[in-house]
Amino acid sequence: MSNGQDQEPILWCNRAEPTRTRFAFGWDDNGNRVQLFDDKTGAPRIEKIPQQPHLGTPLFGLQQLRVRRSVKTLCDDGNEREIVVTNAAAHLNDTDNSYERYQLGTKGRNLGWIPTGSCPSAMVMMGQIPPGTVKAEAAKDGAPCSAAVVGYGKPPCRHYKAEMAKRKELRRIDDARRAEALKTEEAKLMESNAASQKEAAAAMTALSAKVVDAVAAIAAKVSDDAAPAPAPSKGGK
Ligand SMILES: [Zn+2]
Repeated sequence: MSNGQDQEPILWCNRAEPTRTRFAFGWDDNGNRVQLFDDKTGAPRIEKIPQQPHLGTPLFGLQQLRVRRSVKTLCDDGNEREIVVTNAAAHLNDTDNSYERYQLGTKGRNLGWIPTGSCPSAMVMMGQIPPGTVKAEAAKDGAPCSAAVVGYGKPPCRHYKAEMAKRKELRRIDDARRAEALKTEEAKLMESNAASQKEAAAAMTALSAKVVDAVAAIAAKVSDDAAPAPAPSKGGK
């Protein structure tokens, strides 16, 4: 069976050869590329990647075509995602980049998406994204990074790191607000019950402390009363 170049690339997912995930890598504070692990379990972090086109069939020698299907991008919610830039795995016409222009140029521009290796400050200055989409003040300080500092395969610049942190912070605030708004009446009732029970318990503790004090005072008084009267100083001589 040959993998002739006259064969059309296939589109279906290839279950025999799982190619849609890989170990996640990132950057440490010193700009070294490091593998990422789960904070809690210590397990390697896995990231999803878009399906790649193949030549051949699953039965007879499948060959993956390593074309550029996606660009890793910092999205508006603070997550880095693989943004697909061809409209299908079998899209191999590299003269038509209309889908990429839509994904990163139109949609990404409006939402302020920043491809990894780019400087948000420079992107704002060049009009690639609107200033309003950059949330961190430190990410638009008017001193964009030069091409010598940022670029493909280079560690993120200070603007990018500041922007990612700010977007994550804003998302957490928004998540908390949504969680509060979506709480059921039952959950709200349970929370208020728990709060009032806590209050009642605190009141009981304070009360019982008072009771203990009062009992101690009474006991002291009783023992004073019961004590034998001092011997009269006069007489008895
Ligand atoms: Zn920068």
